Amino acid sequence: MAIVIIRQDHKIDAWKTALKAADPNIPVFSYLEDHPVSQIDMALVWKHPQGTLNRYPNLKCIASSGAGVDFIFKDDYPKKIPITRIVDTMLANDMSEHVIAVIFSYLKNLGQYRLDQIRGIWKPIDYHRVSDYTIGILGVGALGAVLAKDLRNYGFQAQGWARSKKDIAGLPMYVGDGQLPSFLAGTQILVCLLPLTGKTTGILNKQLFGQLPQGAYIINVARGGHLIDTDLVEMIDSGHLSGACLDVYHEEPLPNTHPFWQHDKIHMTPHYASVSDTASVVPQIIENYHRLQKGRPLLHLVSPSKGY
Ligand code: NDP
Repeated sequence: MAIVIIRQDHKIDAWKTALKAADPNIPVFSYLEDHPVSQIDMALVWKHPQGTLNRYPNLKCIASSGAGVDFIFKDDYPKKIPITRIVDTMLANDMSEHVIAVIFSYLKNLGQYRLDQIRGIWKPIDYHRVSDYTIGILGVGALGAVLAKDLRNYGFQAQGWARSKKDIAGLPMYVGDGQLPSFLAGTQILVCLLPLTGKTTGILNKQLFGQLPQGAYIINVARGGHLIDTDLVEMIDSGHLSGACLDVYHEEPLPNTHPFWQHDKIHMTPHYASVSDTASVVPQIIENYHRLQKGRPLLHLVSPSKGY
């Protein structure tokens, strides 16, 4: 019985150290070292090389090291094995802080002033006020719900859209495709916090943008696959949208020939809005490992039929 860590970045050693510190009795391996494949019953993964999960004949759990699981569903993984994901207060707080920082930067024109500074331009621009804006959150799950509460504390009006109704104080909710148009009509700043699934792929498109009021601003911190890139550029260039801040892209790193890099009204961050902090999330992975050994229900299970 052992855990294998499969990811292609430089963080394998940090995860291994954190897991071993939390429970020295659990054998933990990197997929890059010699390891007993038949003893592996949990794979802790993040954007793993496709196909690697099929190397483990006794695998009983695929644990995403992050909140998203779209990279697992894209893979040819052993289909009957339960998938878990991270639900974590620090991850949600970090995301909320990022989105609120982006919103304030937009309201106070900080991005434009930075561009003006580089070009030697001194040009005050009227700023906007919190009270003038309704923030629409697409996806009111573990992350969106925390953002909704934090926005309220800053005095923003916020509203949410999800598949099912949520009971969050002061948050008008819109549910399902039928209520999406009303939600969009009242949203000046749109934040995408949806999981990437068959139903949400390409949801940020011209048709959706057209239902937002003139001058709306887009923040995509979910996945690049939600956005039709050319539609965003077209709707900004036509003046219907005032701009966007993106953290996620179809291809990461974004190729430097991509038009987003040079667009004055598109603010880019490098997919780092919120990342799993090992100290904060390792306890839930260890807890799930012990649950797995005892045959108890796992925490934060993903639904393969819903895709999130
Ligand atoms: P959750 O699964 O907790 O929440 C997803 C929300 O989206 C739920 O409210 C769900 O509705 C709603 N939803 C899903 N499908 C639909 C649909 N077809 N129509 C309407 N609503 C839908 O996810 P998290 O909040 O934990 O994370 C969201 C995403 O954020 C992750 O999947 C990941 O891709 C991204 N992320 C990005 C990070 C970054 O650094 N940029 C960091 C962490 C996460 P319901 O509640 O009714 O099921």
